[in-house]
Amino acid sequence: MPVIGIDLGTSNTCVGVVLDGRPQVILDEKGRSTLPSVMALNRRGQFFVGHLAKAQMSINPTGTIHSAKRLLGQKYSGRDVQRLIPELPFEISQLPDDSPGIKLGDNVLTPTEVSAAVLKKVKVLAENALNEPITNAVISVPAHFDNFQRRETKHAAEIAGLEVSRLINEPTAAALAYGYGANTPGMIAVFDFGGGTFDISILEIGDGIYNVLATGGDTFLGGNDFNNAVAHWAAERFNNKYHFNPMNDIAAHQRLLDASEYVKILLSTQEKAQLTLQQVLPDIDPSWDLDETLTRSQLETLCAPLVERALTICQQTFDSANISIADINDIIMVGGMTRMPLVRRRVTEWFGRAPNTTINPDEAVGIGAAIQAMALDSIQDNMVLLLDVLPLTLSIEAAGGVCIPVIAKNTKIPHHVSRIFTTSRDNQNSVTISIYQGEGHHISENSRLSTFELTGIRQAPRMTPRIEVSFSIDVNGILSVTAIDLDSHQSQSIEIVDLTAKALDVLESEPVVQPE
Ligand code: AMP
Repeated sequence: MPVIGIDLGTSNTCVGVVLDGRPQVILDEKGRSTLPSVMALNRRGQFFVGHLAKAQMSINPTGTIHSAKRLLGQKYSGRDVQRLIPELPFEISQLPDDSPGIKLGDNVLTPTEVSAAVLKKVKVLAENALNEPITNAVISVPAHFDNFQRRETKHAAEIAGLEVSRLINEPTAAALAYGYGANTPGMIAVFDFGGGTFDISILEIGDGIYNVLATGGDTFLGGNDFNNAVAHWAAERFNNKYHFNPMNDIAAHQRLLDASEYVKILLSTQEKAQLTLQQVLPDIDPSWDLDETLTRSQLETLCAPLVERALTICQQTFDSANISIADINDIIMVGGMTRMPLVRRRVTEWFGRAPNTTINPDEAVGIGAAIQAMALDSIQDNMVLLLDVLPLTLSIEAAGGVCIPVIAKNTKIPHHVSRIFTTSRDNQNSVTISIYQGEGHHISENSRLSTFELTGIRQAPRMTPRIEVSFSIDVNGILSVTAIDLDSHQSQSIEIVDLTAKALDVLESEPVVQPE
């Protein structure tokens, strides 16, 4: 039974497999290599996923779910979700555990359930194409995905009936697709510009080891912003003529965004394109049409700041990792936006060399995930050894709300580390272990991953108990934390899982402190 590789993308999902030693994407019955990561509800109350769901998006924007990956593993009250809500046409609500709920008809779905529906669809697609049941998959995730996001990706796969053989970082998968490995050592940059996000990763490859040296990115920079820039340009012209801004009408707004994306894509191969939309606001005045000519050079002027933002992130990533552009042997382009001539031109200028674009940018990650799936499945396990890095520093809270780093950002994983902590009060019989993620020195600057309590500590003066706290991160980037009182041998462990806000609130003993 083959193991498939899945690129579960924000806009599109692609599934790959290695057949007779040849990595390839699995095409649907119409020969298409990607499936829109979009879900909708039909009039009979049935859910449907993929091309049909996307096709009805402009007439049913509030009932069409897309970009669920941007909500996956996030808290409703978190900054990213709050920033995303005004951008999304469908309704997002706060569920009791503070995860975001997505309204679809009378249903409220979690982002995990929406992702599961997309995964289920590609599972069936692969089963039909290969004529075999599929039970296992390698699934790619952005290198910057934290524990919750990775866990929810796995959970979505489980709901879809897939066991995750391995989560693989997207840039690593792209490098595998480009054949980097055993015979091609070097340092490569993976420039991934998709529909909703931008990621830059620097990988060092040698002897089949893929080491993600550094990652950077912006989860609010992608093709959607380009569509928006064009839509605003067209809306302004429409407004000048009819004194009504079509962006203020939910249906007209979505249709304008679709038309803008269409024109943006045309301008990757044409010098000029027509942005036309008939009956923009049929309920107000059916004679109001939009018909504007946009040239490639105008598009480039509108979108240049977005491309420059991506390059600024590249600069910051290279600077923070102390890597020089001259050390890079190759630049791999991934994601639909890398087809835009302006993006290719500026990347060429910035890196001082032309990027490698030989593999379809929509398919590279899916193909790489399939190569990893094949390697895990074959008898020569460890044929491709993957070494990834921790994207953000993990720390624990000490007295005064100070974060004490336990594993530094960019540490290679899998990784295990133990440190000794102690108590701050005499006869303190319990401590709270709060685990944080982020680069700040204080808990207010970082995000809390989890909290648990170790009880049954031996009665002793302050600063004498020895409490060993161990952090283990497995190959999938999932963290387990154990605390043990070395005197009483009481211990407590957790895998990082969602703790409800209520459970967190009842913990009230004092955090561990560092021994003097
Ligand atoms: P992805 O998330 O990698 O599937 O990328 C999707 C984004 O790429 C969307 O914003 C598309 O509009 C954009 N895109 C796809 N093809 C092209 C193209 N030929 N020219 C410009 N943008 C494109």
